[in-house]
Amino acid sequence: MDLLNTLVDKGLRREMPTREEALAVLATSDDDVLDVVAAAGKVRRHWFGRRVKLNYLVNLKSGLCPEDCSYCSQRLGSKADILKYTWLKPDQASQAAAAGVAGGAKRVCLVASGRGPTDRDVDRVSDTIRTIKEQNEGVEVCACLGLLSDGQAERLRAAGADAYNHNLNTSEATYGDITTTHTYADRVDTVHKAHAAGLSACSGLIAGMGESDEDLVDVVFSLRELDPDSVPVNFLIPFEGTPLAKEWNLTPQRCLRILAMVRFVCPDVEVRIAGGREVHLRSMQPLALHLANSIFLGDYLTSEGQAGKSDLEMIADAGFEVEGTDRVTLPEHRAAGGCGSQEAAGCGPHEGGACGSHDGSGCGSHESGGVCGSADLPRAEEPRTDLVAVRRRGAGTDLAPNA
Ligand code: SF4
Repeated sequence: MDLLNTLVDKGLRREMPTREEALAVLATSDDDVLDVVAAAGKVRRHWFGRRVKLNYLVNLKSGLCPEDCSYCSQRLGSKADILKYTWLKPDQASQAAAAGVAGGAKRVCLVASGRGPTDRDVDRVSDTIRTIKEQNEGVEVCACLGLLSDGQAERLRAAGADAYNHNLNTSEATYGDITTTHTYADRVDTVHKAHAAGLSACSGLIAGMGESDEDLVDVVFSLRELDPDSVPVNFLIPFEGTPLAKEWNLTPQRCLRILAMVRFVCPDVEVRIAGGREVHLRSMQPLALHLANSIFLGDYLTSEGQAGKSDLEMIADAGFEVEGTDRVTLPEHRAAGGCGSQEAAGCGPHEGGACGSHDGSGCGSHESGGVCGSADLPRAEEPRTDLVAVRRRGAGTDLAPNA
């Protein structure tokens, strides 16, 4: 396909695709999905080899957020039955982080619900960062605390933070449809603050919220302009109890096309598969490793991921290798220009997981013709609420984490 040859050439040169080319990737058919993956995979391997960076989420403070982000299980008015707790103590957070590091993670992402931190919160997270760095040699730490006020990014940097995550999530044109309590411009401002403080910036998106292809291309082009070191790509987990509970818009093939488009637009940037990997890519996850060079290990903020051991097996079986702490993630030209060797961590949005009480896999009226009848035959486009489970272990609980 001429389109794919052109995009590979551009990706190897770090040249921006046109909007039309990016849209054309999203418009390819399911028949072409392996060609798309193979093409974007060449760009991924050129810049990142077969390495997969593992990141580990620690939810420092869960639920009870005053903001109204419609995709989020921690939002104001959320009825999702998630864990709710206030700030973990530094030792508790460090203990949680250690489990991720022991599982192979080289970056720990410290996330807290809320509009943004108070100065007292920054003090407390600074203590946590110092504790984690003391107790886990060589670990990279990313903070994800919401909107930053002047001076806070510098204080986090001084405490040892390597990176700061704040996602754009969706296009500027549709931002007001998903959140009313802050603006797209607020989000851009926080990414700028992180950059200015010398933190490695991480900023990404959420796909599957009912947006158009144009919206997806818009947000990815905006991200390229912001020039983060890492771009987390979340696939909406439609939590029961949130306004987007019925938005099941993704198939595994659609997710692959989205990841490929992000890779073509941001060829030399860490592209991370974030929330929703297991729910939407499902058994196609290994193909997505040909596009993204980074994933989260184990559980998410409020929802469960697949077992950490399964993540490691998947990486090995697909012919990839876990990136060690002795390797610099980013290509030399980016690492030299950023904050040392560290790129950022995507906590995704503060996404989570809600357990659906219903599942959509019954054969009933929608099994394909010719196959009976009594067996459950899920189709790619059907809601898979059965795969969404609230996190009940790890940080904020007495149970061992999944790492
Ligand atoms: S995404 Fe963050 S700011 Fe928005 S509701 Fe969730 S926890 Fe609050």
